[in-house]
Amino acid sequence: MEIFKNYSLKNYNSFGIDVKANYFVNIKTMSDLTKLTQSKLLEGKKYFILGAGSDVLFANDFNGVILNIELKGMHIRDYNDDELILEVYAGEQWHNFVETCVKNGYHGVENLAMIPGKVGAAPVQNIGAYGAEQCDVFWKLKAYNIESNAEIILNKQECKFGYRDSIFKNKLKDKVIITSVEYKLSRKEKFNFSYKELDKIIHRFPWVKPDLQYVFNTICRIRNSKLPNPEILKNAGSFFKNPTVSNYKFQELKKEFPDISGYELKNGNIKLSAAYLIEKAGWKGKRIGDTGVYDKHALILVNYGNASGKDILSLSDKIQDSIQNKFGVKLEKEVIVVE
Ligand SMILES: Cc1cc2nc3c(=O)[nH]c(=O)nc-3n(C[C@H](O)[C@H](O)[C@H](O)COP(=O)(O)OP(=O)(O)OC[C@H]3O[C@@H](n4cnc5c(N)ncnc54)[C@H](O)[C@@H]3O)c2cc1C
Repeated sequence: MEIFKNYSLKNYNSFGIDVKANYFVNIKTMSDLTKLTQSKLLEGKKYFILGAGSDVLFANDFNGVILNIELKGMHIRDYNDDELILEVYAGEQWHNFVETCVKNGYHGVENLAMIPGKVGAAPVQNIGAYGAEQCDVFWKLKAYNIESNAEIILNKQECKFGYRDSIFKNKLKDKVIITSVEYKLSRKEKFNFSYKELDKIIHRFPWVKPDLQYVFNTICRIRNSKLPNPEILKNAGSFFKNPTVSNYKFQELKKEFPDISGYELKNGNIKLSAAYLIEKAGWKGKRIGDTGVYDKHALILVNYGNASGKDILSLSDKIQDSIQNKFGVKLEKEVIVVE
């Protein structure tokens, strides 16, 4: 187990925020977890479990212990002619896992290509894109309970997945370290083109029969054209969640903003596009100092250089207030703010 003191987190968060942590611990093996408990390093200190830092905003220096999860490995747990179960360790990069699946003809995660971050964080916010969510193929996971120093296994139901939500953001928040995740993938052709824009692009040439590699390449191309690469422009993807309103509220909004669109949920409520609201309120492309709203996608806040966590939070507060005032809709942060 490697322990560093007074360690810079600048290269460990996709916003590129230059803060320091009192302690930074690399967890590379399962025995590092036992050593961590034996060391009593966490006693009386706050701690934060870090993946690749692509969904977090560090508001300040972190006065505690950062646990950097670097557990690596991927192997087949079970298979038959139709399906297989792949166990992936928490420290693997999500996109590398997706690439491996595509290379081997395993269907199920191709719509989630190019989502930055590590596998261990994927169940935490139940990552999703292009009509798919990781919970669609999730089988089970193993985690280490920091308090009881014991391994736990959770199935899909126990993880309580929701829209960008799970038990790891609620009851088990900061209590367990996810060590590996098992996904059930299809060895037979099985695509999800429920997302209209994707369906249109995939089928734009009727003579092309899409295969797994084609779908993967298409997703990568769409994402490259829309989303800023954090290596070049620091960001953490969608800063806010898409808000949900009642059907009544949606009809009221429609009277005032006829071009507003919504997606009806099973319970009759309507999910709105946060990007639409932010753009309509005039924030798209706006810059304040070194922070701003990305000019090609209103849901993404960016750090143009030396913005602090506080600068980005201040911008996000202004956007939330403005959306509340203009539409009477509360925007919730998707990004996790670490104080
Ligand atoms: C350009 C860009 C595009 C993005 N696009 C999408 C998208 O399309 N869909 C989407 O859903 N998200 C998207 N995101 C957000 C982000 O990629 C995901 O939330 C990703 O899963 C975060 O992974 P991470 O390893 O960086 O986690 P981190 O940001 O390090 O951590 C996120 C949360 O998970 C917890 N965590 C991390 N690892 C573990 C573990 N092993 N055990 C327990 N808890 C853990 C952390 O404590 C924290 O609460 C995007 C981000 C960027 C920068």
